[in-house]
Amino acid sequence: MAQPYRVLARKYRPSDFTGLIGQEALVRTLSNAFATGRIAHAFMLTGVRGVGKTTTARIIARALNCIGPDGKRTEPTIHPCGKCEPCVSISESRNVDVQEMDAASRTGIDDIREIIEGVRYAPVAARYKVYIIDEVHMLSKQAFNGLLKTLEEPPPHVKFVFATTEIRKVPVTVLSRCQRFDLRRIDSQELALYLATLAEKEKVKVEEGALALIARAAEGSARDALSLLDQAIAHGEGELITAETVRQMLGLADRGQVLDIFEKLMNGKISEALTDLQTLYDAGADPLAVMQDLLETTHFLTRVKVAPAAQGFFDGGSGEAKRAADLAAKLSVAALTRAWQILLKGLFEVRDATRPISACEMALIRLAYAAELPPTDKLVKDLLDGGAAPSPRSPSPPPSAGGGTRATARMGEGVAATRPVPHSIPEGAPTAVLRGMEDIVALCEPRSELRVNLEHNVHLVHLEPGRIEIRPTARAPRTLANDLQTKLAAVTGERWTVSIASQGGAPTLAEQKLAAKTARFEAVAQEPMVRAVLDRFPGAEIVAVREVVGEDVAAPMPDADEE
Ligand SMILES: [Zn+2]
Repeated sequence: MAQPYRVLARKYRPSDFTGLIGQEALVRTLSNAFATGRIAHAFMLTGVRGVGKTTTARIIARALNCIGPDGKRTEPTIHPCGKCEPCVSISESRNVDVQEMDAASRTGIDDIREIIEGVRYAPVAARYKVYIIDEVHMLSKQAFNGLLKTLEEPPPHVKFVFATTEIRKVPVTVLSRCQRFDLRRIDSQELALYLATLAEKEKVKVEEGALALIARAAEGSARDALSLLDQAIAHGEGELITAETVRQMLGLADRGQVLDIFEKLMNGKISEALTDLQTLYDAGADPLAVMQDLLETTHFLTRVKVAPAAQGFFDGGSGEAKRAADLAAKLSVAALTRAWQILLKGLFEVRDATRPISACEMALIRLAYAAELPPTDKLVKDLLDGGAAPSPRSPSPPPSAGGGTRATARMGEGVAATRPVPHSIPEGAPTAVLRGMEDIVALCEPRSELRVNLEHNVHLVHLEPGRIEIRPTARAPRTLANDLQTKLAAVTGERWTVSIASQGGAPTLAEQKLAAKTARFEAVAQEPMVRAVLDRFPGAEIVAVREVVGEDVAAPMPDADEE
């Protein structure tokens, strides 16, 4: 059945304040102002896109200029009739006294000058000249300054209505001369109710669940909600619009399936989860929507955890809420917050990726990988207790020279293979016990010449208290031995003998670091999870190795002498 169709957003664009949903505070304040005759000269409407700023601006213009159906009204009214000439011409954007300007396209002083010139003349026909300036924050500084003079002393027949999505970019000098209204994001339940009344008026049959999905996807914007409902009506082809229809239309995955994926990830069943994801993707699910749903899932589970009566994502009478609650019981809050962080980061990656599905897979792999790690607090505790560090993913470090390393175990890269130098420390050694080149380097100022040379140009041959034997590389400065001697004497308070060997010695610190890094990359590349990723994404390479831990604590490497 073909009939002329007007999009809902236009058809149901509110023509007065009663039609403006979700903005009661604004309506109340304006009503009071109109009732008492204290109408501001300038209004500033702010809020996210789609909440009805321009619509509100037009309603204000009508309220200011309505003359009533009989043409006899002499004062502004909060209930514009919608029938008189001013009301009609304003809603059709053709009233000569109501000018709309989009500051996004006309930002300069000349555009504003036009307005400023016009302000001096009385309205042609209407009660007030109304200037509606959309996206006012886009005006140039000069334009704002020009406008300011008019705002300071506006002629009584002029009103300004500004709208902006970015109130912080509007100069305070301008703001202070406006009555400000913050249009709030429309609550999704309220939006769903509103959609239900429209569906009834339109004689369209829509499931409640379908409306809830649309309202949620609209994220507080009535305009978006209406155009989504339009789409759904077109999709439904006259049949009942089901939640399933809307889900397909929005590229949303079934929540039960999303919960399946989440559960598998948290159990480390990565390949099953990836298969599920592929199935959803093949069925038309948008990777970004999947990430959002996984985030909502995490949020819901966490809320259930802290407040078992929590409601939200998994409502709707299905068995999913119960399943979700069971899953929540098994997971720790720490694991859930870690999942949240990983997914949130993944969401942005998916959004910006050229191949969102790949980014989505990567995020899921990370999540599964992190889910297997013990909680950070346990890791740290185990290390402090001297238990085996439960990190199967760290490459096994090469054997070290032996005892004494525990106390000085360092975090991060390059720990392994840094102490191959034979040394002996006598019992009751004096204060500064230097166990290797690392310890000596640590005594030097960061980035000092001596330090750089010790790191890059010295092979340590032998070290014992008071005596050190080194083999400098060809690039070491001639003064190195002398400099080192002076430094050692200064920091230890003892005499040191520095002798030069012609051969032997350990690799330089820089070489050791590089070797450790290479070994680490190679070890990581052998891990099944990483192997799987490298195989799955040809051309992928490892560029950095970081310990994956959800919280802010850097993961400690296992000690060199532990296995
Ligand atoms: Zn009217």
